[in-house]
Amino acid sequence: MSDQIRILSHLRSHQDEMVKLLEVFTNTDSPSTDKPLLDAFADLLARQWQDLGARVTILEQAKQGNHVKVEVGSGDKTILLLCHFDTVWNAGETKKRPFRVEDGKAYGPGVYDMKAGIVQSIFAVKTLKDLGLLPDKRIVILNNSDEEIGSHSSRAIIEEEAKKASAVLVLEPSALSGSLKTWRKGVGTFKVFINGRASHAGADYEKGVSAITEAAHQVLKLHGFTDLEAGTTVNVGVIKAGTRSNVVAEQAVLDVDLRVKTMDAAKTMVPKIQALKPVHPEVTIEVQGELNRPPLERTEGNVGLFRLAQEIAREMGIEVTESGSGGGSDGNFTSALGIPTLDGLGAVGGGAHALTEHVIVSSLPERAAIAAGLLLRI
Ligand SMILES: [Zn+2]
Repeated sequence: MSDQIRILSHLRSHQDEMVKLLEVFTNTDSPSTDKPLLDAFADLLARQWQDLGARVTILEQAKQGNHVKVEVGSGDKTILLLCHFDTVWNAGETKKRPFRVEDGKAYGPGVYDMKAGIVQSIFAVKTLKDLGLLPDKRIVILNNSDEEIGSHSSRAIIEEEAKKASAVLVLEPSALSGSLKTWRKGVGTFKVFINGRASHAGADYEKGVSAITEAAHQVLKLHGFTDLEAGTTVNVGVIKAGTRSNVVAEQAVLDVDLRVKTMDAAKTMVPKIQALKPVHPEVTIEVQGELNRPPLERTEGNVGLFRLAQEIAREMGIEVTESGSGGGSDGNFTSALGIPTLDGLGAVGGGAHALTEHVIVSSLPERAAIAAGLLLRI
């Protein structure tokens, strides 16, 4: 029996344990903005890894929830696994919708994005250990608490670890049917402040300079920057403007989302948005914002990791395909540094950030086995 098949059957025989741990993780609220809850989750996670004999460091944060750095093994080569344990769900959500399994699917807040990925990372390492297969490598698992809100407090930590790594494996949820992600779009967010001049819409109409008229021009201009073929999109998602119907609006604010597939596109699009010029000569415009996450480009290194994962999966009779996503992850940071990065290695399921969120239970051991195989062979 090949090592890979041994890994898979070992994991399959531990599927119930995986589900139990997933239940514990899912039923523990961990909203991105709640430090006490995040810190409690960090402690819970740290204990799981300590039980496996891993070296665990709680990376204390002043305002954001603490992050958890785990290290297993040693050697010249480092492989970095990325997980985040914050979810988009508020405190109390798990009381309303506790973890449940129905027709082979596990449901609950954050089960797919990405508490299942965390469970898989633990069981991937545990299995290698149980089977005496732990490689002479340094395996680092970074679990951060702020991915869903931009990874502002963890980005530097992730980048520092990534620079030491030969490869980065991101256990974010898979794309459709378990597809792995070799690319993700980069994300920019901007605020456009438009200032006109208020006046009485009846008595002094002509003295006013409408920020809303200007906003209309700018929205069309911004959406006109979209180039679907190139994968560039610009979306004005929020407009706040005006006070009363009988007042010519003085102010408007636009919230803008930019997505790009390549750094080249980012380099053209970001300055274009930052340099927006008013159509009306008496309007002033100020733009704040920048590129938050660089694109995770489909590099040769990323595709190489995908091919290895595909080969490992095939040995187990599982077909995985390659895809990408318009949404960003922490893999964007590591790939932008030139470190081969494979994303979407986490759970198979669907409904991220939605009430339909679920994980296919039988995929838990399979995905952990792919991760374990990668840790062995990279
Ligand atoms: Zn996620």
